[in-house]
Amino acid sequence: MNYRKSFWLMWAMCVAGLLLLYLFVAVGHIAIAYAGVLCMLAGLGQTVKFFRCPYCGKLWRLRGGIPKECPYCGEKIR
Ligand SMILES: [Zn+2]
Repeated sequence: MNYRKSFWLMWAMCVAGLLLLYLFVAVGHIAIAYAGVLCMLAGLGQTVKFFRCPYCGKLWRLRGGIPKECPYCGEKIR
C-alpha cells in the first residue's frame, strides 16, 4: 500500500459508504447504514495509516490531496 493508492482508496470507500447510506434510505435496513458507516470509517482509518510521506513518515493533511512536495521535509513527491 502506498500513499497514492491509500488516497484513492479513501475516496472510493467514502463514495461506496455514501451509496450504501442512500441505499439504506431507500430500503430501510439499518444493517446497510452500519455497513456504509463502517466503509467510510475503514476508508479514513487506512488513510491515517498509509497516507504519509515516504521520506519522513509524517501524516499529510487529507483535504489537501497528494502534495507536490512534502510540507514537512521538503522532499519532492512523484
Ligand atoms: Zn516528508
